[in-house]
Formats: sequence, structure tokens, C-alpha cells
Amino acid sequence: MDRTLFHEEHDTFRKAFRAFAEREIVPHQARWRDQGQVDRDTWRKAGAQGFLCPWLGEQHGGPGGDFLMSVVVMEELARVYESGFAMGLHSDIVVPYIESFGSDDQKRKWLAGCASGEFVTAIAMTEPGTGSDLAAIATTAVASGDDYVLNGQKTFISNGQLCDLVVVAAKTDPDPANAHKGISLFVVEAARAGFTKGKRLHKMGMASQDTSELYFEDCRVPAANRLGAEGTGFMMLMQKLQQERLCVAIGAVAGAEQVLADTIAYTKERRAFGKPISKFQNTQFKLVEALAKCEVGRAYVDKVLAEHVAGKYLVKECSIAKFWTTDMAQEVIDTCLQFFGGYGYMLEYPVTRAFMDARVQRIYAGTNEIMKVIVAKQMGL
Ligand SMILES: Cc1cc2nc3c(=O)[nH]c(=O)nc-3n(C[C@H](O)[C@H](O)[C@H](O)COP(=O)(O)OP(=O)(O)OC[C@H]3O[C@@H](n4cnc5c(N)ncnc54)[C@H](O)[C@@H]3O)c2cc1C
Repeated sequence: MDRTLFHEEHDTFRKAFRAFAEREIVPHQARWRDQGQVDRDTWRKAGAQGFLCPWLGEQHGGPGGDFLMSVVVMEELARVYESGFAMGLHSDIVVPYIESFGSDDQKRKWLAGCASGEFVTAIAMTEPGTGSDLAAIATTAVASGDDYVLNGQKTFISNGQLCDLVVVAAKTDPDPANAHKGISLFVVEAARAGFTKGKRLHKMGMASQDTSELYFEDCRVPAANRLGAEGTGFMMLMQKLQQERLCVAIGAVAGAEQVLADTIAYTKERRAFGKPISKFQNTQFKLVEALAKCEVGRAYVDKVLAEHVAGKYLVKECSIAKFWTTDMAQEVIDTCLQFFGGYGYMLEYPVTRAFMDARVQRIYAGTNEIMKVIVAKQMGL
């Protein structure tokens, strides 16, 4: 199917990023997986070439492109099976909080560095005791003079080791009666006393992603680091989570498409009983079904994307895109893996890693069950 979303400048950008990926990402992936994180320097190289926050306006030190360039980056990362270099999380999930809700001073201080790769960002909502029920977080931020004092623990935080700036959700009003209005967001610099990066977590997949625990112990953060007004954190998160969910859907469809393409090629080469396994009717029917799922997913995500970039606020559609495409990607990758036989169980095969990488897509950015809770509300149920 022809895609109508992109224009010439996006195609040129795709070519440039694809070349960057082949040169600066692919040769290092095995080492990144072994070390459990991407090289810090690669973030700077990506920034220097305009691949971080490509949508950020030139007045803020950004490249002055648009969100579709970010889509290109996410799709191309999926194409090379890079699941740990969280450029999308940085550019399209965390930095938008600063750009949308930051004061002029905050924007001046941080945005240009986010685009250049000087600052790698993370967002810390989840805690050991709560993830889905965000209003129940226990991290506190108590006003003290011109500062707030943060105490609490966060877990499963992407970019947790490499981050220079973390947007932290904390309770400024611990009264459970004000659960939603009691949350504020703070930008915390990595060097602040009382902020400690805990251990990098060992995961099923995304081996090159430095997902970590973070600790805040009497960590003094200037009130000037608070994003927006006190108590508006939950509202800001709810607003920005739509794009986060759409980003997951973009990665899910692109990942499934790539695995399918590689599987089609493999089944044409691999022979059994005197012929390529692509010639068995079971192979053909399964791959046809996988293609149908990818195309339906692609059509829906592209439609939601088109409306999203046109400025529509799409709660239902982003939630549906997130749960449907991530379930679909898991099914497609599982189907594809089967055609690799025993090789599909070997870690050196990309399809094996894609299978493990895909599982988390149904969990993070709001679990697929939470997506259905949201859609049910939208349906008036
Ligand atoms: C690799 C990875 C990276 C992550 N990166 C980040 C990050 O950068 N920043 C961050 O803040 N968080 C991050 N997370 C956390 C992630 O967003 C949470 O794990 C997720 O939101 C679920 O929260 P939880 O783990 O506490 O599960 P829980 O909330 O305890 O949920 C457990 C189960 O109960 C179900 N459930 C809960 N409530 C309901 C309900 N109302 N109806 C039906 N079912 C329900 C859930 O769907 C799930 O199946 C990451 C997680 C992983 C694994």
C-alpha cells in the first residue's frame, strides 16, 4: 500500500537517518546489548546530525522539522532491530513536556541541549508499588523555601543510567482525597545531591536499553525546576500520554513489518523435503495472514498519525492503536519465529530478539488492559 503521510523532505530525512543507522548503530549493536546500554557518544552524534527532537523549532535550538521526522526515526530503528536506543522516548515523549509546559527560562536552559544530545532525558512515573494507578504514587515533593525536597523511589525507568535530566512525577499534596490534583512534575538534573541512579535492570528483551531504578533521598530541587503550576502534573501526563501510545504503535507496526519481510526472505531460502519452505501451503497461509495484519495495522496507525499531526486530540484512537498493534505485532512475530525452526530460538537471530523485545510493548506506556479501560470510558460504558 502506498503511504500518503510523508513528503519529499521526509524521504530525504529517511535516507539520511538510514545511512546514520547503518554507520553508527548497526556495527555496535552486539556490544551495546552486552554492555546493557547504548554508547553515550552516539546520542551526541545523533544530535549533531539533527536526528534528536527533529520537530523542535529553530528558536529553541532544534532542527525545525516536524513529528513525521520522528516517525521516520522510530520506523528506521525498528528496521535495524534496535530496541534499546530510546530516541523516541527522549525526542517524542520526554522533551515535549519541557517544550509544551516549560517556562521560557526552562526552555532556554534545556531544549537546545536535548536536541544536540548534550542532555539525554528520562521520565519517572512508575514506582515499585504502583504503575497503572499513577495517582497512587508515593514519591513526595515538599516545599522548602525556594526548593522542593524530593523523597521516593522510581523503577523501570528507560534511559535510567544515561539520563542527564529526568522529568519526575511526585506528590506535592499527599492527601488521598486530592490524588489527581496532588501530582506535580519536576525536571531533576542527574548531578543533584540526593538523586541516585540505582541498578540497571536485567530484562527479557531490549538488552541495549538501560532501564533502571532511581532513588530520591532528601533531593533538593529548585521550585524553578517545576513544570507548570503545582498540582497540574496528572493533567500534563494525561495530555502527553496520547503521543507516547502512538509512538509504541508506530514501533510495533514497523517491527512486525520488518520481521515479516525477513521471514519471507528466509522461507524462500530454507529448504525442506526438496523445496523452499515458502512453497508449503501452511507457510503461505500463515504469511498471508501476517501480511494482512500488518497492512490493517499500518492503515489504522497512518490514519491516526495523520489526524494527530493535524492537531487532533485522540484519546480513543491512540489507545486502540496501542493495544491492537502491540497484540498484533506479538502474534505476527510469533508466527514468523516458527518458520525459523530451531534458529528462531537462538539469540543471534534478530527474529528471536524481536520476539522478546515485543513483549514489553503490551505492558509499558499503559498496559493493554488500561488501554481498554480508557476506551470503555470513551464508549460511555
Ligand atoms: C522495559 C520497561 C520500560 C519502562 N519504562 C518506563 C519509563 O521510562 N518511565 C516510567 O515511568 N515507567 C516505565 N515503565 C513502567 C511501565 O509503564 C509499567 O510497568 C506499566 O505501566 C504497568 O505498571 P506496573 O508494572 O506497576 O503493573 P500494575 O499496574 O501492577 O499492573 C499489573 C497488572 O494488573 C492489570 N491492571 C491494573 N489495573 C487494572 C485495571 N484497572 N483494570 C484491568 N487490569 C488492570 C495490568 O494491566 C497488569 O496486567 C517501563 C516498564 C518496562 C517493563
